[in-house]
Amino acid sequence: MARARDPIADLRRIAFLLERANEATYRVRAFRSAAKALAGLSAAELTERAGNGTLTELAGVGDVTARCVAESLAGEEPVYLRRLVATEGSDLDAEATALRAALRGDCHTHSDWSDGGSPIEEMALAAVELGHEYLVLTDHSPRLTVARGLTADRLRRQLDHVAQLNAALPEGFRILTGIEVDINADGSLDQDDDLLARLDVVVGSVHSGLKDERSKMTRRMLTAVANPHLDILGHVTGRMVSSRPAGVTGPGDRGHRARTRAESDFDADAVFAACAEHDTAVEINSRPERQDPPKRLIRRALEAGCRFAINTDAHAPGQLDWQRFGCERAALCGVPADRVINTWSAEQLVAWTHDRR
Ligand SMILES: [Zn+2]
Ligand SMILES: [Zn+2]
Repeated sequence: MARARDPIADLRRIAFLLERANEATYRVRAFRSAAKALAGLSAAELTERAGNGTLTELAGVGDVTARCVAESLAGEEPVYLRRLVATEGSDLDAEATALRAALRGDCHTHSDWSDGGSPIEEMALAAVELGHEYLVLTDHSPRLTVARGLTADRLRRQLDHVAQLNAALPEGFRILTGIEVDINADGSLDQDDDLLARLDVVVGSVHSGLKDERSKMTRRMLTAVANPHLDILGHVTGRMVSSRPAGVTGPGDRGHRARTRAESDFDADAVFAACAEHDTAVEINSRPERQDPPKRLIRRALEAGCRFAINTDAHAPGQLDWQRFGCERAALCGVPADRVINTWSAEQLVAWTHDRR
């Protein structure tokens, strides 16, 4: 008789996952015992007993395990197993949680001065509530006109405004000045050098020509990474893995415009080697529709010796809590906290960016 699933294998799989999650022994034993008791039955008897509800008459088989067997015989993944698989990897969760707890700020955020949905002070207050010690404000640069990129004049005005806001914010919290500067086609940065030099943190990203050929894109990125003003290389591949994440709405959500987009093509090993050489941090962008870089590239950047910044690229206050997504991916790739620049204090971070220039 053909059937879609092997109920004994499902019971064993459940036992294995319970053990790996370090669950109580009696729970594991219930599934192991049931698997053992049922392994002695013929397929016909197993099906008959599941059908007439007499599986539980067998020693070692209880209601929960009998239900798993019935679901499995019906060709469905047992609900119990499905839940376990969904919550698998509790150790890893602990690592991601520890990494998230180690983060003291966010180095890539937007306000309504460019394409974000909220004033700077609202972003800052949300960051305070999240327990951050700092928020780096990185609105867009002039060439990104669709995102109302800031001219040099508007950026200067923003710096004055941030200084005023900082004076009124709770002690122990600071808005750090910054920019998400476009990396131009020739690899130069889309803002005046003297202004870039004044900023606490400079994130640089490619927002155009994402389909350019490999050698051109590699050259462009290598030039940018070698620029002493560039501190963090933003959303490295430019990919979009999904359209708007479920349940996310509201102003400032750039996801609603996002479409699926392939990674841009460049020599990742060369770019990461340059990041390591020039001590430019590689961003782990937490946005659900970006998840950039993909895990295989995070691992290569780690091997290359790069530092990382786990950023939200938040365009609204609630999105500041998306750092945990980036932490999960970083933890999956084994990124240690001491390679992540936003585990530093604001003073350490700013000392690092100024040293680099
Ligand atoms: Zn960007
Ligand atoms: Zn951004």
